[in-house]
Amino acid sequence: MEAIKKQPIYNFINGEYLLPSMRHQAQDLHSPLNGSYLGTLFYSTTEDIEKAIQAAKNAFPAWSQKTLKERVQIFFRFRRLLEINKEPLSLLIQKENGKTREEAQAEVDKAIELCEFASALPQFVQNEVQEVSKGVECILKHEPLGIVASIVPFNFPLMVPMWTIPNAIALGNCMLLKPSEKVPLTMIRIAELLDQAGLPKGVFNIVQGSKEVAEILCEHKDIKAISFVGSTPIAKEVYRKATYNYKRCLALGGAKNHLIVLPDADIEMTASNIAASMSGCAGQRCMAASVLLAVDNINPIIEQLCKEVQKIIPGENLGAIISLEAKNRIENAITAAEKAGAKILVDGRNTLVKGAENGYYIAPTIIDHVTPDMDIAKTEIFGPVIAIIHTKSLEEAINIENANPYGNAAAIFTQNGAAANYVMQYANAGMIGINVGVPVPREPFSFGGWNESKFGSHDITGKSSIAFWTQLKKITTKWNAQARTNWMS
Ligand code: NAD
Repeated sequence: MEAIKKQPIYNFINGEYLLPSMRHQAQDLHSPLNGSYLGTLFYSTTEDIEKAIQAAKNAFPAWSQKTLKERVQIFFRFRRLLEINKEPLSLLIQKENGKTREEAQAEVDKAIELCEFASALPQFVQNEVQEVSKGVECILKHEPLGIVASIVPFNFPLMVPMWTIPNAIALGNCMLLKPSEKVPLTMIRIAELLDQAGLPKGVFNIVQGSKEVAEILCEHKDIKAISFVGSTPIAKEVYRKATYNYKRCLALGGAKNHLIVLPDADIEMTASNIAASMSGCAGQRCMAASVLLAVDNINPIIEQLCKEVQKIIPGENLGAIISLEAKNRIENAITAAEKAGAKILVDGRNTLVKGAENGYYIAPTIIDHVTPDMDIAKTEIFGPVIAIIHTKSLEEAINIENANPYGNAAAIFTQNGAAANYVMQYANAGMIGINVGVPVPREPFSFGGWNESKFGSHDITGKSSIAFWTQLKKITTKWNAQARTNWMS
């Protein structure tokens, strides 16, 4: 058998591709779609990270001195490059993450929207000025923080990094980004496109690696802020470490999203929305529906949901699970629920895709008669699986939703305005859907959960992110020598 020629995966530092020091741990990457070899990732060492920090430090004075209007010009050009490169970028995302082509294209579309928001920042960020006394003015300015870092997960190789890159950079910061070690390729292409858009060298740098690299970033004295997106246990660890080292930190964690369904909900619309929410990106979304709280008798909707998910075919309109380890973990969770007494209505275990036997697939799975104490009702599954819990009333449903430790999203499906209002008011989550299965706010509204789904203040996108990426400078000026008045007068 012919040996595979190893293809190293690069860092991007100071506008150049640099190989992480070869001495460090290496890992071969394979596509979750079919197991094909994608490249070999070398983890960055302390010296590699120092190089990136030095590049960012060198770039910061000139970059931060530019006006916001000047800086956002890069993102007008970059947006156009995203449009031009939509197809190759989608292919790359699909190959390394395993999602469908359409889902990968949607990531590029969302990246374009995020770019549009960053390009519009001058319309949102106005410094404030007031004449507080005759000839005396107070001015409030948004200033960049300095060198910042962004640590991102595997499930959106483009969209999640783009939650942070355009806003942080347009607001005058220089960034080190650590991609997920599972999907390091898309970001390299993004660094090239930013370079092509005219971003000065050193403003955006990529350091590849895993836990060890993230830890160095959380401890480094020259990094002022850490943005993290990933699972809750790691989000907590990163938040603790970064704030212990006196950094500003926003750490988004995992989720367990509840959808409440009332008997008066539109059958077809509700079933197709829930099917899409639970199985989009193979359920590997922090906004995925994970628990269906069935109030009273909603059997026609559950029957329709079972029919809907039969239309979702692995390898066709359903992507792959990121790794064999993740596939095994999800299948074990389904088996444990079955053993605990739940009833599997649609079983997606043991799925093989013809022609892609080395890929990792699980078909949509619906588990009925789950009780709130079962593991499947409590833990984040991160696969195309939904657990149905039956409740007698909306109050009982909201109590179950409220008791879960996460708080990313919650939704209700109903035609009853009062019930919808009740959920809007009492759901214990940051993003609420009314007849919407994946209630991701669009720009300029911001993205962010509550409770164990987010640590730190502000949201990661939209207008709220401006406060995270900037600090306020307060200036008082006095030009009233002629007036000879006391400045407090
Ligand atoms: P993960 O927590 O395993 O990894 C996330 C990042 O943290 C990666 O870059 C990884 O290399 C790094 N990391 C791993 N161990 C670390 C450590 N000890 N210290 C510092 N960094 C470390 O998450 P994942 O499996 O890549 O992504 C899936 C998770 O992300 C799910 O829990 C999902 O809900 C969550 N997620 C949340 C949101 C949100 O908006 N809340 C969005 C996307 C994904």
